[in-house]
Amino acid sequence: MFSRRRFLASSLLAATANLPASRGFSAILAPSPVGIDRDLDAVTGAGKPVTLKRAAVQELGESLRGNLILPGGAGYDQARWVWNAQMNRHPALIVQPRGAVDVRNAVQFAREADLLLAVKCGGHSPSGKSTCERGMLLDLSLLRGVRVDPEARLARVGGGSLLGDLDHESMAHGLVTTAGTVSHTGVGGLTLGGGFGRLARRYGLALDNVRGVEIVTASGEILRADAEQNPELFWGVRGGGGNYGVVTGFDFNLHPMQRQVIGGNILFPLSQARQVLSFYAEYEGTAPDELYLSAAMASNSDFSGVSGVGFILCYSGRPEKAEAILKTLRSVGKPLIDTVKPLDYVALQRSGDSDEKRAIGSYTKTGFVKKIPPALIEAMVGGLEEHPERSTLVGFQHCGGAISRVAADATAFPHRGIHATSLLTVDWPGNADPAPHIKWLLDYWGRIVPHTDGFYTNDATEETQKQLDENYMANLPRLVKLKNRYDPTNLFRLNANVKPTV
Ligand SMILES: Cc1cc2nc3c(=O)[nH]c(=O)nc-3n(C[C@H](O)[C@H](O)[C@H](O)COP(=O)(O)OP(=O)(O)OC[C@H]3O[C@@H](n4cnc5c(N)ncnc54)[C@H](O)[C@@H]3O)c2cc1C
Repeated sequence: MFSRRRFLASSLLAATANLPASRGFSAILAPSPVGIDRDLDAVTGAGKPVTLKRAAVQELGESLRGNLILPGGAGYDQARWVWNAQMNRHPALIVQPRGAVDVRNAVQFAREADLLLAVKCGGHSPSGKSTCERGMLLDLSLLRGVRVDPEARLARVGGGSLLGDLDHESMAHGLVTTAGTVSHTGVGGLTLGGGFGRLARRYGLALDNVRGVEIVTASGEILRADAEQNPELFWGVRGGGGNYGVVTGFDFNLHPMQRQVIGGNILFPLSQARQVLSFYAEYEGTAPDELYLSAAMASNSDFSGVSGVGFILCYSGRPEKAEAILKTLRSVGKPLIDTVKPLDYVALQRSGDSDEKRAIGSYTKTGFVKKIPPALIEAMVGGLEEHPERSTLVGFQHCGGAISRVAADATAFPHRGIHATSLLTVDWPGNADPAPHIKWLLDYWGRIVPHTDGFYTNDATEETQKQLDENYMANLPRLVKLKNRYDPTNLFRLNANVKPTV
């Protein structure tokens, strides 16, 4: 969840280092193969080998308006791309649907062959849940597009869209909804699992703003789910991740907002870490909803040697109220760097974009916190101080506000009383051995985890099924019932999985 770019977007680092330019994340698309010349070796959801007959694959390809791409075919490497370069997997076949009917055809094919199936929107799953080895990859990148109805304050968003698409189109009408802090993250994964961002304290999670979805279920039905139609499914998709089907379209509520916000970072010397984080622990709960204020410490960041502790903020309230807030924040210590200024909201949302993860390795642990006691601050600062040579980013992403004012059972996302998400992340050069870095981070995380209360499923890495189940809290039985109804064979298993019991 808290990659360096996402957490520090337009950040401590950006203030001092030149970021690599984004290479762009949309695939260059290949035409469907004309004539399949071989059977394909693949695996089932349970990992058993299965052979896909040439004629059946050919028939699938002919049933699509979109593309079917096989290993070695044009566009294969681009289509199998995911953000975490450590997840270098090779699907047996890739379908790029152009609409819900293509999705249905692919889902039916995968179900009938009992195939392992991965669904990819933005491909940002840190644990590589949106790719697979020798299964089918459903790459939704052709389902990318946003149409805004300003009268109805509604955005109709294709299930393969990226957050930047949504911000760009809606803000042009003076309207917004909550989106995450890195614009090349997918709307699909982010929204179905939660959706934190700079406006979440004001407007709730991204999933709190969903008015309805079009979804293709495991049986191949194309359903509308909203407050009136299939309301139980609508409840489940808002927090249940990709467990119930492939969402081909989202309808989002939009809110009027000025284009200009106040954003940036205030960075203090790392020696003031305890002071700054103690202030943050007291202050964050009193902040207005319009203030998104995260706190972070960085050491040897990006291998550039940048170290510091500070605030990352976005204030979207009335400008005349900003000065008093900024004065308070600036007086916490002696700022080294202060980049806070009036900014275009869409530009701020893009300011953390990067594709650097392909050049470096990274490992992150996150957990929700309901308070930030002195012992947690000590554990965070102490852990960092012991290894200043590591490229580390740690801190708290601000939650609370409107996120907390929704009942825990109103949607499938139950973690409503949270004040912040705690984060630890370590980076290393792409060719280095990850093992010592990951081990170090896990040891460090061991000191933090006693202070956490659940985790964000979108950030889940190696959590056990028991941990995933517990994390759905009291909503689990209802989610399992829905899974039994809509996906009894667990076709959609590459996610924070709800296991069917039928
Ligand atoms: C750089 C970066 C920045 C991030 N910033 C934020 C942030 O600010 N706020 C925040 O809340 N989270 C953030 N995250 C975490 C983010 O929520 C998850 O990584 C999320 O999974 C990304 O969605 P995606 O569509 O890009 O992912 P993908 O990897 O494409 O998909 C993730 C999961 O969702 C499923 N899925 C995706 N789309 C669909 C669909 N249309 N229908 C059904 N299932 C689908 C996939 O099958 C998979 O299980 C960030 C992650 C990264 C790497």
